Amino acid sequence: MADAAEIIKMTACGALDIATFPCRSDNYGYLARDKDSGLVAAIDAPEAAQIESALDYLGWDLTHILLTHHHGDHVEGVEKLRARGNVKVVGARADAARLPKLDIEVTAGQPWRFGDHSVDIFDTPGHTVGHIVYHMPGPKVLFSGDTLFAMGCGRLFEGTALQMWGSLAALKALPDDTTVFFGHEYTAANGDFSLDIEPDNPELLARIAEVTETLKKGGYTAPSLLGVEKKTNPFIRADTAAVARSVGLVGADAPTVFAEVRRRKDNK
Ligand code: ZN
Ligand code: FE
Repeated sequence: MADAAEIIKMTACGALDIATFPCRSDNYGYLARDKDSGLVAAIDAPEAAQIESALDYLGWDLTHILLTHHHGDHVEGVEKLRARGNVKVVGARADAARLPKLDIEVTAGQPWRFGDHSVDIFDTPGHTVGHIVYHMPGPKVLFSGDTLFAMGCGRLFEGTALQMWGSLAALKALPDDTTVFFGHEYTAANGDFSLDIEPDNPELLARIAEVTETLKKGGYTAPSLLGVEKKTNPFIRADTAAVARSVGLVGADAPTVFAEVRRRKDNK
């Protein structure tokens, strides 16, 4: 494992300090510390060793694990981290049967509190039917799991294109200056595909240049800004005339365009 000091990228979002670091082959690990309460949340638990080494380096005491969905690469480290003591595992009540044992069950539309911060839970079916994301309107952060990626979205393992479009459309309604912490570093491949869809989108071209440079230096493309996704992510842009035209579906509704964009990505 690489030295924690060299692999942690810190982002300040209001009262939250958020550490980003790689886990497994292409997952991201995140630790969010609330400066006011001292609470520390891991977002998913892709790999206990890497998360523990980040906690030790930062000198942070883990208090919560916020689960987005039941896939192994998001829950594998839960029991090891729980054994540190005093860690509350948070996840979707509706998917509790498939998740590790939950200490706090959350439901979309019923805000939960992390310290003084209100946390809005969104049901985002598509990648899995029980997937949820966590939005904190105060510090303006979104933990999007495997629903929304940089220039991408999760594969439809369980849900339909119509469901996933509904999930993305709800996230698209959040403010542009929302910082998005997503589940995987798939940005190079997603960027490549995005260019197939919108080769002349100037914002997309600029973003590709930027992420290529970042990745070349060994940097992380996470977090991103929701406003940038709205201008460059072909999945969340399925409701635009530009993307509809590009996939030969002028005049079709957004779910239909989204389904076609997703199909093309799956076949690339
Ligand atoms: Zn997943
Ligand atoms: Fe995943």
